[in-house]
Amino acid sequence: MLFRSAFIFLGSFFVLSSSAQLAQVVTNCVNPKQVALTFDDGPYSSTQIIRQMLNLQNIKATFFYNGVNFDCIYNHISDVYQMYSDGHQISSHTWNHFDLATLSWDEIHNQMYLTERAIYRITGAQVAMMRPPFGSYNDQVRQASYLRNQTLIIWNMDSGDAGVPPKTTEQSEALYDAAIASGSPGGILTLNHETHNTTVNDVIPYAIQKLKNAGYDFVTVAECSNLPAYQWQDSSPQPVDPSWQSECV
Ligand SMILES: [Zn+2]
Repeated sequence: MLFRSAFIFLGSFFVLSSSAQLAQVVTNCVNPKQVALTFDDGPYSSTQIIRQMLNLQNIKATFFYNGVNFDCIYNHISDVYQMYSDGHQISSHTWNHFDLATLSWDEIHNQMYLTERAIYRITGAQVAMMRPPFGSYNDQVRQASYLRNQTLIIWNMDSGDAGVPPKTTEQSEALYDAAIASGSPGGILTLNHETHNTTVNDVIPYAIQKLKNAGYDFVTVAECSNLPAYQWQDSSPQPVDPSWQSECV
């Protein structure tokens, strides 16, 4: 795998082209009666709480992890590996949670590369899905994503937990009720943030029960879009190297 991981390298490797192809942008599930619960901005101190809640109910979800945001991904190596081993989908939310549409070509690649490398080191899986912070992207971001074999993942149901101002628990729950009531013909691809206590403790348990009652199947984003979660998966992760911590800045 050394050859392949060396091949996916820093931005300067890639050349910006006005005619380059653009990565696909996914906003919907393709199958009705499916819901993809997604959680952004981790890993965080809540990661194990969510993991246990989902596993107890045999639900698979998708996590868009940052490198350095609320915490550093290298402070949560075992959390991320356990989440992956349990069958949850691990995807990139890029390194620093910068607005990618404001960055240069090389900066965009570096934000993607550092995160892809961290997840690869920790899990042995090379991710194939990326959610741009704030849902913000332009053609340059899509070009970079295409070259890195990434699909951009947005959402069609925002719980509003990271809105300005954030929705209250009752408001977020009402948004789940409305998505279910609308029938969501393309399935429900959600946006939640594991860094909000009310999301973890109140809104998601409520939403799970409501969605179950309405007959929804809980799937990963890869399953709900019929696209690959990973470019490849090694049988084991890399041995933990304390020097990785130096990237937590
Ligand atoms: Zn985010």
